[in-house]
Amino acid sequence: MNKRDYLAFGGSPAAAAVDIAGSIEYLKANGFGNGYLERARGAVDAHRTRAFEFEPLNANYCDFCFAKLMGGEFDRLADGRERCMRCTRSVLRTGEDFELMFAEVKRNFEAAFQISINAALMVRMVNAKEIARRSRETFQPTPGVDARALGFAEQHAQGYSLFIENGSPRLAAISTTAHELAHIWQYLNWNVGRIEQRYGAHHRLAVYEGMAAWAQVQYLLHIQEFDGADRQESYVLQRTDEYGVGFRMFIERYPLSRDGDVDIDTPFRHPHPL
Ligand SMILES: [Zn+2]
Ligand SMILES: [Zn+2]
Repeated sequence: MNKRDYLAFGGSPAAAAVDIAGSIEYLKANGFGNGYLERARGAVDAHRTRAFEFEPLNANYCDFCFAKLMGGEFDRLADGRERCMRCTRSVLRTGEDFELMFAEVKRNFEAAFQISINAALMVRMVNAKEIARRSRETFQPTPGVDARALGFAEQHAQGYSLFIENGSPRLAAISTTAHELAHIWQYLNWNVGRIEQRYGAHHRLAVYEGMAAWAQVQYLLHIQEFDGADRQESYVLQRTDEYGVGFRMFIERYPLSRDGDVDIDTPFRHPHPL
């Protein structure tokens, strides 16, 4: 039998013995249906038909995942933020939940962007006040979106610390962790003096935050959180600060891989990201 005869499959006498429909039934019955690739294709198709845009004035959104809030089905937190039921149900409650999430995101993030983050990393859950104090953010809850930072990364003499707000919903925690891991990678691989020299000191924040926002959205696409990626992207795009400006520069230079396949050019591959 010649190797290329398999192309005649179904048309050759030997193939008549194979019951194709029966084989598919058999495989499905044994749990091989609805596989990883089939689900991914379905999610990509569903995503293509959807375009998400904020209507900042007429609608209310979950401040954690940016999903539109319908009716009275949401929680109002003590600080005024609103949280959808899906986010409430997925809140990371214990240190163990948090550690498992972090280990998984770090592993996937490194694999997705083909990097390794080899550094002493201290990871801690802290309360919202601590996050606000450290990120020097002032916060005024409003309708629309009040996405407060849920985490931050810090560089110090002993290594790096990553802080995530306790009580973060799972998807928000994953998204924040990806963003902060990008910053830790920058601290390890970039020299702030050289970044300022090349892009100008006044662009430093846009370069750092733009890339972190790019990595955050691309990471969500990679793990097939297509809706979450879509909303995160829309949210960053409507920002007019360094995050929004920087993100636009990065998606222009490094178009996002919409199906999540990360075999693409990324800012992680260049000594000068832009
Ligand atoms: Zn939500
Ligand atoms: Zn950042």
